[in-house]
Amino acid sequence: MSVNAKVNLLDFDRAALETFFVELGEKPFRARQVLQWIHQRGVTDFASMTDISKSLRARLEERCTIVTPRIVTLQDSTDGTRKWLLGVDTADNAIESVLIPEKGRMTLCISSQVGCTLNCSFCSTAKQGFNRNLTTAEIISQLYLVNQTLRAEGNQQGVTNVVMMGMGEPLLNFDAVMAAISLMCDDFAYGLSKRRVTISTAGVVPAIERLAEVTDVALAVSLHAPNDELRDTLVPLNRKYPIAELLRACRGYIDGYNRKITFEYVMLAGVNDSLEHARELVDLIRDLPCKLNLIPFNPYPHAVYRCSEQAEIDAFREYALGRGVITVTRRARGDDIDAACGQLVGAFKDRSRRSHKYQLGLNQIEGTRLAQ
Ligand code: SAH
Repeated sequence: MSVNAKVNLLDFDRAALETFFVELGEKPFRARQVLQWIHQRGVTDFASMTDISKSLRARLEERCTIVTPRIVTLQDSTDGTRKWLLGVDTADNAIESVLIPEKGRMTLCISSQVGCTLNCSFCSTAKQGFNRNLTTAEIISQLYLVNQTLRAEGNQQGVTNVVMMGMGEPLLNFDAVMAAISLMCDDFAYGLSKRRVTISTAGVVPAIERLAEVTDVALAVSLHAPNDELRDTLVPLNRKYPIAELLRACRGYIDGYNRKITFEYVMLAGVNDSLEHARELVDLIRDLPCKLNLIPFNPYPHAVYRCSEQAEIDAFREYALGRGVITVTRRARGDDIDAACGQLVGAFKDRSRRSHKYQLGLNQIEGTRLAQ
C-alpha cells in the first residue's frame, strides 16, 4: 500500500474514528483508546499503544498515519505571546497559530483556512488572498503541537481556551472546523468546555443557523460597523448578509441558552469610532444578550487605516458601558512579532489573485514597483 493511501487519524473525531474501527471489524471503544493516546499523551507511534492488541497495532501501522504540519518557526514576543508558523503541505503553504498566555489561562488562536476569501478592508490576511481550506487534521494539529511544546517545557495543563480567530473564516470551512471542535470538546481528546471554545465569524448567516443545530460553543461576530452602508465597505460579506439578517441569526444562536454573543469591533480612526457610531451601535445591540469587544486596529505595512486614539476608544467604551452594554477593550498582544489580530499572514501561493491585484494597486499608489 502506498503511503498516500494511508488515512491520517488526526482527521477523525470520535464518531468518525468509531465508524473507522467498526469497518475494520473492531469494537467502537478502540476509538476512545486511540484518541487518548494521540491527543492526551501525544503518542503517534502505534507500537507504543500498549493497551491495543499487537495484531491491531500492526493493522493500524499498515493503514494509518498520524501526521501533523511541521513547525517552521516559533517566535516569542516580549509580552509572552508566541507565534507558530506551520508548514501544512509540500506546496509551501504555511499558516499561523498564536498562543496568548494570561493569568490563569492559555488561549490559542487557531487558523481555519490558508488565507481568506472575505477581503475585509482592514485585515492583512485578506491582502494575501486565499489558497485552500485546512483539513480537520491541520486544524486540530495546531492545538496538538502547541500542547506538545508546552508539555516539553514542563507545563502539563497546556492550552485552556481556543479561539477560531486566526487566518480564515471558520464558517466557510464548516465540516472540518466542526470535527476539530468536537475533538477540542471531547473528554477523550482535549476536554475543553464549550464555553472555552469560541468561533469567530464575519457573519456567514446560513452557517450560523447551521451551527446552532450542531453545537453551542461560544460565538463571536465581527461587526465593526453599526450600519449597512459602512459595513458594506469594511466587511464586503455584508452585501450578501446585511446587519438585520446577521443579528437575527445571532439571536437564534443563543435563543434558549443562558449565554451571550461577543461582538468584535475594530477601532479605525475617523471611520467607525465616533460617539455617533457608538450611539448607533448601542441602539442596534443593546436588547441582545451580548458583550462588546473593542479591538484597537493593529497596523501592518501599507495599511490604509490608522488606529483610533486612546481617548476615542475610551469615550466609545464609556458610552456603551453607560448604556448597559458590557464593553471591554482588547489589549494588543504580540504586535512586535506580528501576532496580533489581523496581522496573521502565514505564507502561501494565492489562488484568488487578490494579493496580485493588491500589489498592483500598491504599485500604482506608490508609482514604483515594490520589491517581490
Ligand atoms: N474570519 C473570522 C476570524 C478571523 S479575524 C472573523 O472575521 O471573525 C479575527 C478578528 O480580528 C476579527 O474580528 C477581525 O475582524 C479582526 N481583525 C482583522 N484585522 C485586524 C486588524 N488589522 N486589527 C485588529 N483586528 C483585526
